[in-house]
Amino acid sequence: ATPTAIMVGTGLGAESGILIKGGEHLENAHKVTTLVLDKTGTVTVGKPSVTDVWVAPESSEDDMVRMAAALEAQSEHPLGAAVIAYAANLHWAIPETKGVQAVPGKGIIGTVNNMTVRVGNRRWLLETGITQFPDDILAQYENMGKTAVLVASENRLLGIIAMADTIKPDAEKTVRELISMGIDVWMITGDNERTASAVAASVGITKVIAGVMPEDKASKVQELRKAGQVVAMVGDGINDAPALAAADIGIAMGTGADVALDAADIALMHGNMHGVVEAIRLSKATMRKIR
Ligand code: ADP
Ligand code: MG
Repeated sequence: ATPTAIMVGTGLGAESGILIKGGEHLENAHKVTTLVLDKTGTVTVGKPSVTDVWVAPESSEDDMVRMAAALEAQSEHPLGAAVIAYAANLHWAIPETKGVQAVPGKGIIGTVNNMTVRVGNRRWLLETGITQFPDDILAQYENMGKTAVLVASENRLLGIIAMADTIKPDAEKTVRELISMGIDVWMITGDNERTASAVAASVGITKVIAGVMPEDKASKVQELRKAGQVVAMVGDGINDAPALAAADIGIAMGTGADVALDAADIALMHGNMHGVVEAIRLSKATMRKIR
């Protein structure tokens, strides 16, 4: 591409909030054959809120939510923020905690009232020795695209807190356009398979990589590249930074974490999904001018 074409393309992008960090990315974007979208904060707005609470027999909602909120008060996860907001609405005093630790991709653990309390996903609680889950309740939430976190004290399940996130208004249209451009669209997430598939289906995505540990997102991107695909990764989170760097083109939501923006080649400042289509179209137009 001529320097002039690159300059014009970069300028046009910037005007619509698409920041391209270097001419080579503008030249490469039209070659993308596979696009991987992170779920939370990319396909969805990334601000979940509590929709349902299920309480185990012999447990109380009051105790269960308080304990969960006590731990989540020390988490930086959007799911934690949803639990805290819910507890704050109920005006319940939050108990004191000791030794709280976030466990990436799994949940959060700490001591509340001298008991070890865990708030996190089913897979993690299964690993820690809880064997009985209300599967029908979990299925009901997850099939609606809700993320259900379980609350356990020692080896006793206290309840479930289900949260829903809002799908971005332009998500479905963006996926449709990407597919019509011949691009393979995937969604990747640390969330469970059922929730992920429900969210993906609601925007027309059929290819889902779920239950991915934060450190494994980059290797999933590498696998697609090794299979011969030119891969663009779109994400917003701290977790996504290595995958953004591993992709042929990393695209970050401007609404996301600074590390994601730093790792990306292109930043979508408005945080809307359609910017992905616009960036690829801009690349096509730029390359047409050159040949
Ligand atoms: P993603 O960013 O793709 O949603 P994460 O790796 O952050 O995924 O989290 C994966 C899963 O781990 C969440 O869906 C949730 O089940 C569990 N989890 C992680 N952090 C927390 C937390 N602070 N509280 C409850 N659950 C959590
Ligand atoms: Mg995200």
